[in-house]
Amino acid sequence: MKCNNYLNGIEDQPGNQPIRVFGPQFIYAFESVKTELSDYSHSADLSNVQLNLLNEDVKAKGPFSTENLIQIHDTFLSFLWCYSYGLLVAAPMGGKVLSNDEYFEARDLLKYALSLLRTFEVWDKERYPNPEIHGKDEKKLIGATNSCFWYGYNYILYHEFGHIVLGHTERVQRARSYGYDIHEDERKDMETEADLFALDRLMKEVLGTSHEFSAIIGVLTALGSLTFTSNRVFGGPYHPDPDHRLKTVLDKLNKASTEYYWGYAFWALITWEVEFYKSGNIWPMSSPDGDFKAHFYETLKNLDSLKEELKNK
Ligand SMILES: [Zn+2]
Repeated sequence: MKCNNYLNGIEDQPGNQPIRVFGPQFIYAFESVKTELSDYSHSADLSNVQLNLLNEDVKAKGPFSTENLIQIHDTFLSFLWCYSYGLLVAAPMGGKVLSNDEYFEARDLLKYALSLLRTFEVWDKERYPNPEIHGKDEKKLIGATNSCFWYGYNYILYHEFGHIVLGHTERVQRARSYGYDIHEDERKDMETEADLFALDRLMKEVLGTSHEFSAIIGVLTALGSLTFTSNRVFGGPYHPDPDHRLKTVLDKLNKASTEYYWGYAFWALITWEVEFYKSGNIWPMSSPDGDFKAHFYETLKNLDSLKEELKNK
């Protein structure tokens, strides 16, 4: 007997991808964040900000915000859920015991996630794990992914609202109306500012609760997913490199060096590297000895050297 979370259109679950089962919650979370930040910031008027949740069968496009709009595409959300599952389930940590089938399913789903960045293909609910139709989920692989995905989605909302509340969207638009673009370095600073703003808001709700772990993993997954959306780990002209964004967030959280989070972020980088380079270039030489932080930092250093190499090619 399979569990089916789709309500046949009785509730607002638009779209065709299995991610549609979150439909009403996507909107509810948007309205909650908007209300919370309207109380928090008296300088930015958020009353006109609308959520544009697109359902189109096209390849994934990343979220963005303007002064009155936050746009998120359901192919991107599908990508994020599948990436979360692939990373979380296949990571060789956390004490879970997987069958070979479960492991390869996770790897296949990760491949499907990455394919959505190139072209749209329907998420096959019979073949791949998904949040709409699934079996009993005894190991809570779907449940853990839903939770991680959910915090990732909320982090993205806070990040996009952050651009509005912190005056970034206004500054960018004002500059454009005068016929120039804000300098790339300043745009990157804005991204870091929005990342830290989002982290602060999200953590306020969960710090010290049983949700803290999922929330942090959700944030790291959302940032880790960007290693694939942007030009092979380089952030491009407007965004810091995704590995540096992971570092900013982890440094801010300041967790003990033996905590799982450092190892998880390391795993996100290795997953990227295996996909593109298959060379072990960034794999640290030291043994982790339980010091995941040192392992993560060494990976970052190796990654910076790889980037230099690539730039010079
Ligand atoms: Zn941004």
